[in-house]
Amino acid sequence: LLSLQQIRKSFGQNNVINDLSLTVKKGEFVSIIGPSGSGKSTIFNMIGGLLTPDDGIISMNGQKINGKRGSISYMPQSPSLLPWRTILDNVVLGQELQGNVDKEKAAEMLTKAGLGTYIHSLPHELSGGMKQRTAFIRALLSPQPIILLDEPFSALDELTRAEMQRWLIDIWEQHQPTILFVTHNIEEALYLSDKIVILSNRPASIKGSYHVPFPRPRQGDIMLDSDFLQ
Ligand code: ATP
Ligand code: MG
Repeated sequence: LLSLQQIRKSFGQNNVINDLSLTVKKGEFVSIIGPSGSGKSTIFNMIGGLLTPDDGIISMNGQKINGKRGSISYMPQSPSLLPWRTILDNVVLGQELQGNVDKEKAAEMLTKAGLGTYIHSLPHELSGGMKQRTAFIRALLSPQPIILLDEPFSALDELTRAEMQRWLIDIWEQHQPTILFVTHNIEEALYLSDKIVILSNRPASIKGSYHVPFPRPRQGDIMLDSDFLQ
């Protein structure tokens, strides 16, 4: 479904991605793990069409999409909510673009996520974790075949995180979207994904990948390379 072939990206002298190739099958849940600054968000920005690779080809269903916004729902690492729109009107943004707004469903999800009393509030009235949940719901509500989630739960407490993980699994089981997920939490990657891709430090390329067997192991059950997170 999605393929990255020999991608290279530099910012000035800073060669961030070097010769990175990756293919993602339809319906696969792939987690990307790598040191801070290794280029994970840069990879997502390229897949999402916000940045163009210097070299290489990104394709979706065999069509080159370098620098183009494809049928992708992208929750960036620092998602922006429109400050003048209420929380409810923010989460239906993706649906608006597709001409298919379901405010009732949106309100129901916000309520389930503990944001019921904030539906008509503006983003600045919410905490960081609440804004993150709002952006997460927005990404889930605009059902595209590919969903990119860049550390979507980093600001959440353990309980809320577990709840949101459950949602993600439910969505995945119901609609079978292809999900690419960045996390620093190995336990979370093992719990959620089919495949974990490990990036080497800069310039990033793929150091290895791990197919998660079923039943899923716990972090302590697998041996990771000693230089796994160098
Ligand atoms: P983290 O885990 O901390 O989110 P990351 O793996 O997502 O890190 P990136 O945000 O992709 O890392 O950044 C990788 C490198 O690219 C960093 O050195 C960063 O400074 C650089 N970089 C990213 N975006 C830009 C940009 N728009 N302009 C210049 N440099 C950039
Ligand atoms: Mg990042």
